[in-house]
Amino acid sequence: MKARIAVLPGDGVGQEIVPEAVRLLKAVGERFHHVFEFVSGDVGGSAIDKVGVPLPQETLALAQQSDAVLLGAVGGPRWDGLEYHRRPERALLGLREQLGLFANLRPARLYPMLAEASTLKREVIEGIDLLVVRELTGGIYFGKPKGIEKIPGGERGVNTEVYTTEEIRRIAKVAFEAARKRRRRVTSVDKANVLESSELWRRVVIEVHTGYPDVELSHMYVDNCAMQLVRNPRQFDVLLTTNLFGDILSDEAAMLTGSIGMLPSASLGARAGLYEPIHGSAPDIAGKNLANPIATIASAAMMLAYTFHLDKEAEAIEHAILKALEQGYRTRDIHSRGTKLVGTAEMGQVILENFNQG
Ligand code: NAD
Repeated sequence: MKARIAVLPGDGVGQEIVPEAVRLLKAVGERFHHVFEFVSGDVGGSAIDKVGVPLPQETLALAQQSDAVLLGAVGGPRWDGLEYHRRPERALLGLREQLGLFANLRPARLYPMLAEASTLKREVIEGIDLLVVRELTGGIYFGKPKGIEKIPGGERGVNTEVYTTEEIRRIAKVAFEAARKRRRRVTSVDKANVLESSELWRRVVIEVHTGYPDVELSHMYVDNCAMQLVRNPRQFDVLLTTNLFGDILSDEAAMLTGSIGMLPSASLGARAGLYEPIHGSAPDIAGKNLANPIATIASAAMMLAYTFHLDKEAEAIEHAILKALEQGYRTRDIHSRGTKLVGTAEMGQVILENFNQG
């Protein structure tokens, strides 16, 4: 297989963790005989410093002409004073919009040896392995009318939760397809007891489900889901939900596993998929060889599975991560007594060696 991968390290720890993921992808290419072409671009604050904008035309064109995008993180205190439309974070919105990335996939999986890093009890979180599929370009963040207007005696703020059949259909398909790579169970999360948009959501999800008889579908109200996630998260396989509910539930699910440095994500659309860790640029530890590269390496594994359909290759990377953890290697964020403390580059190297030993 031949593929072109846009590599956008961005800011802060992005510059340290992305090269580790690229090393793994190169090793996958060698071992499994795929030809990956890596082309780097500037994004976020580093692009502002070079050319004055967070998403240069060149970077956007690179992303559009690639099969997949690997991103580190953007932002940092240096650029916090800029006006909103020039801030590094605008690059993410621009990429999402221009690449039509309507589906955000965030797995939350607990590595058993890291159970102590979670704020929840081991018996609650042990064995959790779930995937949140969040709609990313519709719903209340984009619906109109929106705004704040003056009314007699004060002001009135308005946002509109709106979904069309087509928007629901395409995200539901992503969830059912993803479930087929997992334990074949989808829980659709809505508020159909109160919201008309949720009533439509539920109806369309049921209709799309007829094309996936091998996948089990259930429905849950969002308030109950928020509770069930901390009460009994093991019950979930794929959680399918709207932009707003997904924003909240995916953060809640991420926290179950304890460390932000471990969790990957994928954003999918009509064109190139975008793969990135869920964390930000971590300016407090940037440039110190302290960042955990696992979230980014696991994002590269998601790229292999979701964009290139190379499931065996993705599993080989995940296995190498698991082995490194089993061998006791830990970056500072997941370090506990009795384990081996290593830096970003060393953790990348150990995972690479485990991968090469296959
Ligand atoms: P953050 O995720 O960067 O950091 C939160 C905490 O987690 C910090 O203590 C950090 O040291 C730690 N952390 C994050 N990644 C880690 C890793 N790989 N290994 C070990 N520890 C890690 O969030 P923040 O501090 O709120 O934001 C910092 C900057 O990142 C801001 O400018 C923000 O806008 C930006 N940001 C970008 C993205 C993105 O690029 N997708 C996402 C969130 C925040």
